[in-house]
Amino acid sequence: MAGARNQEIRCEKCGKLVFVFEQLLGGIGCKEREEAYCPNCGNEVYAAMTDGTFLTKIIEEANEQSVNN
Ligand SMILES: [Zn+2]
Repeated sequence: MAGARNQEIRCEKCGKLVFVFEQLLGGIGCKEREEAYCPNCGNEVYAAMTDGTFLTKIIEEANEQSVNN
């Protein structure tokens, strides 16, 4: 079944925008509750039943001050 749940979620703890995307693992057929965690601070940002897993990535925002200067 297509239509993975991809979404942007604002981390309540650190304020980063986190892109959460669902990676479906075919052929297992066993739905479990999986959590998605903020890659920046480890806070749980999303949880849902899935037969795959959730991957996360920080979305760098253009107006954010860079720490690499
Ligand atoms: Zn966070």
